[in-house]
Amino acid sequence: MMKNIISLAEEALFPIVKDIEGNTIEQAPATGFSIAGTIQGEGKLAGVPSLFIRFSSCNLRCIWKLPDGGLSRCDTPYASFDNHRVKHLSSEELLMLVKQNLGQIRHIVISGGEPLLQKDALIDLSARLKSELGLHITLETNGTIFNREACEYIDLFSISPKLGNSTPDPSNLKALGLNPSGPLNYHGSNRLNLKALQSFLDLCNSRDKELQLKFVVASPEEEKEIIEDYLQKLSGWRASDILLMPLGATVEELKQTTLMAMEMAVRNGWRYSPRIHIDLFGSKPGV
Ligand code: SF4
Repeated sequence: MMKNIISLAEEALFPIVKDIEGNTIEQAPATGFSIAGTIQGEGKLAGVPSLFIRFSSCNLRCIWKLPDGGLSRCDTPYASFDNHRVKHLSSEELLMLVKQNLGQIRHIVISGGEPLLQKDALIDLSARLKSELGLHITLETNGTIFNREACEYIDLFSISPKLGNSTPDPSNLKALGLNPSGPLNYHGSNRLNLKALQSFLDLCNSRDKELQLKFVVASPEEEKEIIEDYLQKLSGWRASDILLMPLGATVEELKQTTLMAMEMAVRNGWRYSPRIHIDLFGSKPGV
């Protein structure tokens, strides 16, 4: 595949109201707004007006267990588990689409899936977004892949390292009717890459770049795991870079974990991250 062709999840750039030629799209955006854009719902920039680009495909397959024993899959399964409805756009086409829908927005979030799986396309796209539009770029990544060149034009690395509770086990797979193959098998061994995480930290500390380590938590026992398996083995992070986000892809699921995550954040001097888009729009894509 050419280096500037990007495999995107079906929603590609969202939420938008204009097509690449500037014509109004018949279907209203999932936000229900008459304009393009939404807010960043998570992390240090929660509330900031943004457009999102969703890359397709992920090297992990997260399936969490909720406190009530229920299962919560990746909140963007169409970019990881079921990535068959892929859209291919060149970085030129994507840039045109961004221009038509930008309005007053100055922030763009590149998310997935795992965008660093397409590092050449990511380099090309982020270089154009920076040089031609001067946008602030957030990269949302699971932190398992580091590539210095691909990081050049990124302003904020929103890294979500996955804890043990995200690993699909045989009973979870059976309950969801999934066959253990590919990333479902190697999620457990690939989810933690301390070398890659340390490289992100070192890069941000040596350059004018921001970072957040955003842990999805489901139970109080995970506090020890965050400290012992991650923070004690990494250097160069600040307490204000550590964010806890409650597990849950729906409002009902979030009710089980929100206060526990908040208490854990307060106890450690870390930050709590809301999931505003789920509170406002539920679990639908494109918001
Ligand atoms: S790392 Fe992120 S995109 Fe990949 S399966 Fe897990 S939650 Fe989904």
